[in-house]
Amino acid sequence: MATIIDGKAIAEKLCAQIKEKVDKLRKLGIRPHIAMINIGENPASKIYVSKKEKLAASLGIVSSVYNLGDNTTEEEAANLTECLNNDKTVHAVLLQSPLPKNLQFGKSVNLIRPDKDADGLTLLNLGKLFSGEPEIVPCTPLGVLHLLRTVRRNIAGLHAVVIGRSLIVGRPLAQLLLNANCSVTVLHSYSENIREICRSADILVSAVGRPLFIGKEFVKRGAVIIDVGINRTETNGVKKIIGDADFDAVSSIAEAITPVPNGVGPMTVAYLMYNTVNLACRIEGVTLNF
Ligand code: NAP
Repeated sequence: MATIIDGKAIAEKLCAQIKEKVDKLRKLGIRPHIAMINIGENPASKIYVSKKEKLAASLGIVSSVYNLGDNTTEEEAANLTECLNNDKTVHAVLLQSPLPKNLQFGKSVNLIRPDKDADGLTLLNLGKLFSGEPEIVPCTPLGVLHLLRTVRRNIAGLHAVVIGRSLIVGRPLAQLLLNANCSVTVLHSYSENIREICRSADILVSAVGRPLFIGKEFVKRGAVIIDVGINRTETNGVKKIIGDADFDAVSSIAEAITPVPNGVGPMTVAYLMYNTVNLACRIEGVTLNF
């Protein structure tokens, strides 16, 4: 049976390190501050933002949340971003995705000042990642790489298959894995022979958002599976959150697998705090290495 990679416990360890840094900053009179912009009425986004607020508070990080309605215009979103960019007490700005249909995420996120870009999604930060000299890296890919390294210290030369090519997960993750010297294949909804390609993966990351998408026939014996998917299901009135993988079936073949919940999710939130502390250090001119 596969080793279950305990994202919750690993994230707690990371958070303990982050808290140490926050405590050191506090002694210097600095309190890292993240501002989160949440536009629209997406119920899942509200839950994620509230989790981020709670974690920030538990680590001594200041957070402020700006909830804007479904009908927010591009100009209103831009004005708020500009305000936060210029606010000297704010070190990090996050734009929660998804946005309502009238707004383009790529365009709006780019209005965040790159040196306050909490999720590393501005063109400058993505460009640095793509040029192999990353500074602020998107949180979910950072979390995925961290979990992976708990079971595979050396990933150089391994074949990593990433299913999904979104701006927030698939694309930056592929680049991060490439920077770590993996041979990377990215699959998406136009890809052919998905099953066969996945079966050649030493590392299989699924970021599709479809329950039971990864079956036994997708997995090479001994592979590591990182399941990024979050799918809300209901069977006989029982609500459940599950990933993309058919967990029980693939666990008999894989060497290690992340569960959903308590896999990638807690790592994403922990790395948001990690990025916030790093941004605060840079803005305040303090060096505190992790
Ligand atoms: P997204 O923007 O909807 O991207 C999904 C990707 O899956 C797209 O690239 C799409 O291809 C691809 N895809 C869809 N159907 C496919 C198929 N049949 N075969 C192969 N590829 C297929 O979603 P996302 O924002 O990346 O999120 C993906 C999942 O991860 C969601 O369940 C989300 O909730 C979850 N997530 C979790 C975390 C976490 O912290 N755990 C963080 C972020 C997201 P095309 O590009 O061709 O459309």
